[in-house]
Amino acid sequence: MNDSDTEPVRVVCGFDLGGTKLGGIVVDAAGLDPLHEDRLPSPTGLDGVLDAITDLRDSLLKGAVEALGRPVELAAVGLGAPGLVDRSGTLRFGANLPGVVDAPLADLLRERLGVPVAVDNDATCAAWAEHERGAAVGANHSMTITLGTGIGAGITVKGEILRGAHGFAGEPGHMVVDPHGPRCPCGRRGCWERFGSGSGLGRLAREAAESGNASRLLELAGGEIGEVKGELVTRAAAEGDEEALAVIREFAWWVALGIANLVNVLDSELVVIGGGLADAGDLLLDPVRSAYRDLVLGADHRDEVPIVVAKLGSRAGAWGAALLALARLEV
Ligand SMILES: [Zn+2]
Repeated sequence: MNDSDTEPVRVVCGFDLGGTKLGGIVVDAAGLDPLHEDRLPSPTGLDGVLDAITDLRDSLLKGAVEALGRPVELAAVGLGAPGLVDRSGTLRFGANLPGVVDAPLADLLRERLGVPVAVDNDATCAAWAEHERGAAVGANHSMTITLGTGIGAGITVKGEILRGAHGFAGEPGHMVVDPHGPRCPCGRRGCWERFGSGSGLGRLAREAAESGNASRLLELAGGEIGEVKGELVTRAAAEGDEEALAVIREFAWWVALGIANLVNVLDSELVVIGGGLADAGDLLLDPVRSAYRDLVLGADHRDEVPIVVAKLGSRAGAWGAALLALARLEV
């Protein structure tokens, strides 16, 4: 065994704080394939978040040592958090994290873990991962839209993440697309994510069931309209059920409306769709592409904007957090 076998390998941990889980990933200082991944159930409260990240760090580093067969040294940490994260790494507001407001996450984690820490919005981290290692590699002007329970987004301009004046850029989920629409947890009505997310799909499906236009969906839901959820729509549509396909087309129009609005503003060259709904693939994306062409300004007179499925799946947020830490912290 020579010295280079016993010298610690510098590694970076990335964390993705979601509504149901805290995901973690550890990479080497080149940010290449993850050495180890792990997850914990989502913690509650600020202290719970800090404790869970500390525990997950320990398990990630142990996994990295096993993967490499060499000691490791933690060089930096990245965290993606759901909500408005300012440039100092403070989570100002997260609608889905009760009890965590104005939390200086970067400072607290730096103190706790003893290494440099970068914190950004979770969807921004996922977009950065797709830009660096996934579906948006090579695209300088792209956006990654995460369609889950809500809608998250990250935008790249000239190959860099668009952060805006305060760090809050990329929250199109709360663009109001119908001022008389359903109420959003953010306090307003008719936000895009009330229509274009998994919960939006479920609502459209229940409306179809109430009007008697979703017999297969109702059957899959055991006859209970309240049990008609977004997952059932994609399942029935994959079977070829016409009523479910009609719900998918209506849903796709709402998704495309937001994308067309964003492309009108940003003139992106590529749109990447991630999140749970991306698993539906072309079943969803074909009607989105078609509606997008109807909605974007001057479709016949501009370059086509491919709308593609994300490549990195549920690991994108944590991996992107690690990659952002590498990019920002001069590790
Ligand atoms: Zn909203």
